[in-house]
Amino acid sequence: MKITFIGLGIMGQAMATNLLKNGTALTVYNRSLEKAEPLKALGATVAQSAKEAVAEADLVISMLADPSAVEQTFLSESGILKHMKSGSTWIDCSTVDPEFSRLSAAAAQKSGVAFIDAPVAGSKPQAEAAVLSFFVGTTAEGIAPFESLLLQMGQKVIPFDTVGHGSSFKMVVNMLLGQSMVIFSEAIQLGTALNIDPEFLLKTLPKLPVTAPFTALKTDNISNNTYPTHFPLEHMLKDLRLATQAYSSAGKRLAVAETVKAQFEGAAEAGRTRQDFSAIHAYLTS
Ligand code: NAP
Repeated sequence: MKITFIGLGIMGQAMATNLLKNGTALTVYNRSLEKAEPLKALGATVAQSAKEAVAEADLVISMLADPSAVEQTFLSESGILKHMKSGSTWIDCSTVDPEFSRLSAAAAQKSGVAFIDAPVAGSKPQAEAAVLSFFVGTTAEGIAPFESLLLQMGQKVIPFDTVGHGSSFKMVVNMLLGQSMVIFSEAIQLGTALNIDPEFLLKTLPKLPVTAPFTALKTDNISNNTYPTHFPLEHMLKDLRLATQAYSSAGKRLAVAETVKAQFEGAAEAGRTRQDFSAIHAYLTS
């Protein structure tokens, strides 16, 4: 099986690295070509264009920023879907909304390409350690031919049976992630205002059953007031926008998610887009 990986940002770089380290032959492509250089050193074939990258591929894995990046790369007039081999498979690991995954699947079907949405849980450290979880929008049988490949990049493959449902679950998880980060920040703010030592709060709160466990991974950022990018704040904002839009299209409003989204919008406008999303704390306390 000839495999191509498209999108070598924070996550794609680590995922493609793990495939190569497992001896999987890989063609790679990234819009900014220089990001492919470290993978070339690991034996990847570097394509100079997306069209060239997919021409021979039996399987294309993508890890792109957002629906717009996937649209431009695959679905648009100049997109590569029409250049993919009939009978090939496209696994999209990008975090997009379920409606967009269904749209991608329908477009792929017209080109004779099978589509699977497969967004991931886990951030940069988990991608590097190959312990991601894949939420796949197909059945256990549907993902079976690719499972061993996904397990070179992760430790769990969870089938959601229907196209788009991997993306649906990812929306739910990331809405919780964004909300929990802000809730944690507010707890630190309240405790500090009530004269509790901030270092005690940062050490103690993540261990309580009332606190989202991932916050333990963000306390050093807050303590040092440095936010090295694992999950870019701009992508957290994108996910909150997608989640609230998906819900409001049913004529409803998620009050807390809308408030948290507005806070991330403020942080993005303040220039924190490429900081880790935990920098929302620095924004809310500035
Ligand atoms: P990233 O570092 O920002 O990388 C984004 C990738 O998308 C890069 O390869 C970028 O190419 C490409 N891209 C952006 N706009 C494009 C366009 N218009 N046309 C073609 N390529 C385009 O993001 P990331 O952190 O790796 O995340 C990738 C996806 O995984 C996102 O959907 C994100 O929400 C999701 N995710 C991220 C994490 C995390 O912790 N980082 C965890 C789980 C899921 P260039 O290099 O040329 O800009």
